[in-house]
Amino acid sequence: YTNISEEYEPLEVIGKGSFGTVRKVRSKTTGKLLVRKEIEYTSMNPQERNQLISELRILRELDHPQIVKYYRHDHIIENKSIHIYMEYCDGGDLAQIINNFKKNKEQVPEEFVWQVLVQILLALHRCHYGIDAKKVNLFSNSSGIEPSINSETVVIHRDIKPDNIFILNSGKSIKLGDFGLAKMLTSQNDFAKTYVGTPYYMSPEVLMDNPYSPVCDIWSLGCVLFELCTLQPPFQAKTHLQLQTKIKRGIIPEVPEIYSSQLRSIIKECITVEPEARPSCFELLETLSIKFLRKEME
Ligand code: ADP
Ligand code: MG
Repeated sequence: YTNISEEYEPLEVIGKGSFGTVRKVRSKTTGKLLVRKEIEYTSMNPQERNQLISELRILRELDHPQIVKYYRHDHIIENKSIHIYMEYCDGGDLAQIINNFKKNKEQVPEEFVWQVLVQILLALHRCHYGIDAKKVNLFSNSSGIEPSINSETVVIHRDIKPDNIFILNSGKSIKLGDFGLAKMLTSQNDFAKTYVGTPYYMSPEVLMDNPYSPVCDIWSLGCVLFELCTLQPPFQAKTHLQLQTKIKRGIIPEVPEIYSSQLRSIIKECITVEPEARPSCFELLETLSIKFLRKEME
């Protein structure tokens, strides 16, 4: 094929994003289903364009079973648009799942909440401990010493929320996607000015435009787990200012007791206002590996 778009048969549109359309496509050579994000950059300001370029750079580097796979992108100059080809997630996103449970007045099974926790932690491990994290063998590190963070390669997602967590194979596989606001640790903090939407899941330090570190993603993950258990985000308010006040205070309602005390306490720990006191991805994975080993020995 002379150009990339000819290699794919366009299928139905599955969603609208803030800058364009998300469409299902099929590869004419392999028959494989993919998703194509069709972004028109004319509606973007220079800062947003830079963000897009940085997202593409990050996506190319991240290759992990728990991260929505990026395949390639295509710059279509005559349409002033960029097409990003990505893995198709047949189960939609967590926001849709939460809505379905709400509609049916049902509770999310605890097992599924654990699956989200474990699989998103694995994705974050890949991001937080550097592009070379593949080489870090997660549990053979018997010293228990946290892998050091190489500042040049660390990726912070910064926008973990139900809409950005995707489901595949009827819930068996859970993946982190939409790195639109992700940042390499070295670049400066220009986040607060570009964020649109209600920051229900945003950590206090990011919200206040303070210096932040990878644990801001752990806060957001805690908020997502809370919402899975209660079908409501932990912090809600009528105005932006009230929401900000609540997040800074960090007091959350009790998670219902149908969920185990272990799960409830992990959620509480993730939603810790002081970033220094919040568990890291590594610490949480270590706790979990002990839990699962115990379960196996029972
Ligand atoms: P935005 O974050 O700009 O609103 P997204 O690209 O995240 O836009 O998503 C738009 C819609 O497309 C959402 O409904 C989302 O669930 C869906 N979507 C995005 N990426 C995928 C994917 N890889 N597989 C399946 N659905 C997707
Ligand atoms: Mg999104």
